[in-house]
Amino acid sequence: ATTQAEVTFGNRFARELPELARPWEAEPAPAPRLVLLNDDLAVELGFDPNVLRGDEGVAMLLGTRLPEGATPVAQAYAGHQFGQYSPRLGDGRALLLGEVTDTRGRVRDIHLKGSGRTAFARGGDGRAVLGPMLREFIVSEAMHALDIPTTRSLSVVATGRMVQRDDVLPGAVLTRVASSHLRVGSFQFARATGDLDLLRRLADHAIARHYPAAAEAANPYLAFFERVVSAQAKLSAQWMLVGFVHGVMNTDNMTISGETIDYGPCAFLDAFDPDAVFSSIDIQGRYSFRNQPHAAGWNLARFAETLLPLFADDEDEAVALAEQAVSGFGPVYQGAWVAGMRSKLGLPGDVAPDTFERLLGELLALMQRSGADYTSTFRALGSYARGDRGPALEIFGEAGPAFRTWVQAWLGLSPNASAMDAANPVYIPRNHLVEEALEAALDDDLEPTRRLLAAVTAPFDERPGLERYATGAPPDFGAYVTFCGT
Ligand code: AMP
Ligand code: MG
Ligand code: MG
Repeated sequence: ATTQAEVTFGNRFARELPELARPWEAEPAPAPRLVLLNDDLAVELGFDPNVLRGDEGVAMLLGTRLPEGATPVAQAYAGHQFGQYSPRLGDGRALLLGEVTDTRGRVRDIHLKGSGRTAFARGGDGRAVLGPMLREFIVSEAMHALDIPTTRSLSVVATGRMVQRDDVLPGAVLTRVASSHLRVGSFQFARATGDLDLLRRLADHAIARHYPAAAEAANPYLAFFERVVSAQAKLSAQWMLVGFVHGVMNTDNMTISGETIDYGPCAFLDAFDPDAVFSSIDIQGRYSFRNQPHAAGWNLARFAETLLPLFADDEDEAVALAEQAVSGFGPVYQGAWVAGMRSKLGLPGDVAPDTFERLLGELLALMQRSGADYTSTFRALGSYARGDRGPALEIFGEAGPAFRTWVQAWLGLSPNASAMDAANPVYIPRNHLVEEALEAALDDDLEPTRRLLAAVTAPFDERPGLERYATGAPPDFGAYVTFCGT
């Protein structure tokens, strides 16, 4: 039998970048209880899920019992939060336990969120609470199933400690898995030290881990930056296609790998609204649905600034190279988004760009006017193409002739219904279902969470009996508000 003792942890980040790693210990938990374990992910990482369920396994997931090779550290990083630069953020309530090599040979970070105060905790208590950690588990695993690059969730362990928020809530630790936790903010921190050797070591570490081919390029650091730009442009497009609002796109929450990270105030669109904002603190709408690609580009420009000394010795030349590379974001984003939207509408490749653009513009306007549920609409159009008109007519009923005109033009282009079903999820973590699941979990009923997870982890495959997971928010659900740092 496999035991977790056979999974050996590495500490490459801590060894190669000690300036960015503060050795630290997780806070003991008074009464640990495993709430949720991702068996498939555990196996993928080389762990035996049954071992993780035991006392020693749970203690490992909390960081209170260290597996072989693990040297937990809090990572240092800086970041622009809503445009304001903070020179010292870092893991205030999290630890990197170490890296493991998974069963497919990939290096993965094992990271604990909610493991207690660290040197970067500032005024915070270092803790996390059960509801938001379950929420991160559900949404991140849904994103993974949607084929969107993301950090993963291995487990949620309740600590048995009550934590003061607006209410007193049960504390919990989320064990997060990522291809790395390197962020734009990591580079901002390194650059701000003025130590160019550190900056170069950090870039070399990131290249080796994520973009090894860049090392062979004529200008490896520029090639590295271009790859991050491209990965983030594609990621932004995927968010936009699926109706995901990240909610807190600060530079410390943007990964170098191109994985989605930090599921705090995120939410999926219900009724289509390009200006949708869910976060309680995003008063200006800086990170609204439609602003996300712009925010990503802004962050990448801040990233480029940190790398200038590595691009070229001459500053003007470095700036010119950086500007050129940042401008690569738009075309990659646009290309990925258009290709994705064509798939969502089932349109063959030979539909002319202006026809496609006009059709899509009209549809989005119709959706907005009708208060159409973003996810359901595309799925309903797939049904319509197959001859089942009911769902679309229910959504667009009041749009009447405008919808009929639109749908005739679209049908005239011979949309492919099966291709649409493969591109348009039927089950996403709808806000009202997530809230319902978290509420039950607070009463020790994990069943709604498990059922929701089962639905959203096979998002394209419509199954009988799951109708309520495929339906938009009830009218009385009201405006949805999300929170950071809970
Ligand atoms: P976020 O907005 O989630 O990206 O977090 C921004 C910063 O706040 C990071 O440095 C976090 O580690 C820190 N932070 C968030 N919540 C807490 C907490 N409860 N205790 C200490 N630090 C926290
Ligand atoms: Mg963060
Ligand atoms: Mg956070």
